[in-house]
Amino acid sequence: MRLSDYDINTIHSTTLQSTEVITPEDSEAEVRHLVLRFDDEPFHYVEGQSIGVLAPGPYEFGNNHHFRLYSIASPSQGDDYRGNSLSICVRRCFSIDDISGERYPGLASNYLCDAIPGDTISITGPYGLQFKMPENEDANLLMVGVGTGIAPFRAFVKNIHKRKGGWKGKVRLFFGARSGVETLYLNQLRSDLALYYDKASFQAFEAVSPKPQNNEPPDLHRCILDNAVESWQLMQDPKTYVYIAGLVEVGRRFELAMEILAGGKEEWQDTKASLIASGRYAELLYE
Ligand SMILES: Cc1cc2nc3c(=O)[nH]c(=O)nc-3n(C[C@H](O)[C@H](O)[C@H](O)COP(=O)(O)OP(=O)(O)OC[C@H]3O[C@@H](n4cnc5c(N)ncnc54)[C@H](O)[C@@H]3O)c2cc1C
Repeated sequence: MRLSDYDINTIHSTTLQSTEVITPEDSEAEVRHLVLRFDDEPFHYVEGQSIGVLAPGPYEFGNNHHFRLYSIASPSQGDDYRGNSLSICVRRCFSIDDISGERYPGLASNYLCDAIPGDTISITGPYGLQFKMPENEDANLLMVGVGTGIAPFRAFVKNIHKRKGGWKGKVRLFFGARSGVETLYLNQLRSDLALYYDKASFQAFEAVSPKPQNNEPPDLHRCILDNAVESWQLMQDPKTYVYIAGLVEVGRRFELAMEILAGGKEEWQDTKASLIASGRYAELLYE
């Protein structure tokens, strides 16, 4: 779906309650956890949905705002379970001009990363139901999220802990971040995922960058292959739900690993088709 296809006619006003850097100080990347409090009527959403953010203009071509999407990173009642807020996790982005090499700040992400508590932020949505959690507590969850792709899974894991009081199926999270030390939401500064999961069923596997000094992306492919036997067994289990989130490159690396585990491209496509047909496969990938 193109950005221009999203309905942005209903705009909700929110106030930025808090903004916190969640990447370590020595990381080149800046990712922030933002909590937005609803100003007027309640804003209903579920885990796995995204919101639109309208960065105020004016901008080129007469646009009054710049619209971008962000995955909701809190459970449906908010991080504090009071029902009047939501959280997002935003990476400060830049685009590089191919010819001049010049770096231009991304409008929406820089607007959000520069915002201070008390600022008003206009949002739209929520959009999408791609990442609906299964009701059945015996279900296995296989989650793959690199960089900001971890946001929807944070909501899942918090929700499992709070609402369900533990989960009976296996929960597996493959995650990673560009610098290897920058382990979103699982870093030493804020080991908050560790507070929420039930240790008996939850395991997280960190993909690290083969060359962090060159800023190479984490090796998700290797990380999945290192856990090949269990990953593939889970993929065959009719109780398993698969979720992939993050940049398009993450999806590509996941597919490559699965093709090896399945014994070929076609074999993996067959498995994926049956997962999709039974509503057990969802992707949330962005450029
Ligand atoms: C469904 C959906 C959910 C999304 N969820 C999130 C989210 O939870 N957190 C988040 O930070 N972004 C998320 N994004 C990306 C976000 O919508 C914006 O594209 C991003 O913030 C850049 O917007 P901008 O206006 O700042 O810069 P733009 O000028 O639009 O882009 C600047 C550059 O940043 C790159 N870029 C975009 N997103 C990322 C990213 N997450 N990590 C690294 N590079 C990136 C772009 O390819 C481009 O080269 C999501 C996108 C979609 C479609």
